[in-house]
Amino acid sequence: MYQGRSVDVLGVKISHATKNQVALRISDALSGGSPITVFTPNPEIVMRAQKDERFRRVLNSADLLLADGVGIIIASRLLGDPLPERITGIDTGEYILEYAAAHGHAVFLLGAKHSVAERAAHEIKSRYSDIRIVGAHHGYFEKAGAENDEVIKQINASGAEVLIVCFGAPLQETWVFENKRHLKSVKLYIALGGALDVWAKDIRRAPKILRRTGFEWLWRIAKEPRRAGFLFKMPPFLCKVLCRKISN
Ligand code: UDP
Repeated sequence: MYQGRSVDVLGVKISHATKNQVALRISDALSGGSPITVFTPNPEIVMRAQKDERFRRVLNSADLLLADGVGIIIASRLLGDPLPERITGIDTGEYILEYAAAHGHAVFLLGAKHSVAERAAHEIKSRYSDIRIVGAHHGYFEKAGAENDEVIKQINASGAEVLIVCFGAPLQETWVFENKRHLKSVKLYIALGGALDVWAKDIRRAPKILRRTGFEWLWRIAKEPRRAGFLFKMPPFLCKVLCRKISN
């Protein structure tokens, strides 16, 4: 099983793990091991963590930090410690749904706009008839105070073992970090950005060929041009990684 070796990419400790090792860690957590938290940083998230030390600590508090994005893989190569493979958040989410359905683990979907989580639950059930989705709640509530307490109450009452949180970064990771101590039954926390929009079929994933070749980002930019800004962040990200390597 993956025991925690990581590659330090600008202070963010990306897990040096294969998909198989991640799968083993997930099944261990769900079958009675210690609860785990999984975050899936891409270069944009790592760059954000540069300017925000607290967010960096939040990220590094996770048990698994998966390399979501070719940029992270390139960075690990530049650092001379290549990560074994890219592991996207959405693929990990798909694996978790399949695993939860096969082993009867209760899943709670939290995030996205009103009705999206419910529609995602409906679509997921149509794919995995045995899956136990024990709750679905939108992500537009006050993240502190009475509204937050009510959401915590709902999750606890549902007996959720898997909690999928989709608020986008850094909100989702910070929320998990701040709230998990109040959650009683959850064994696996994962923050998955826009996954509920994909599962609800509001956003289409890239064709398989683009996913396999690491070009899913091209598709995402075509569908959501606001994401093009990340292209401009890539050269400074890789330069920073190189500078850090040279200065060490
Ligand atoms: N979102 C939310 N609550 C908020 C802000 C955003 O639930 O307070 C949702 C938003 O509706 C979307 C998701 O968070 O479903 C963010 O998706 P995005 O694709 O931007 O995240 P990324 O994958 O880029 O981190």
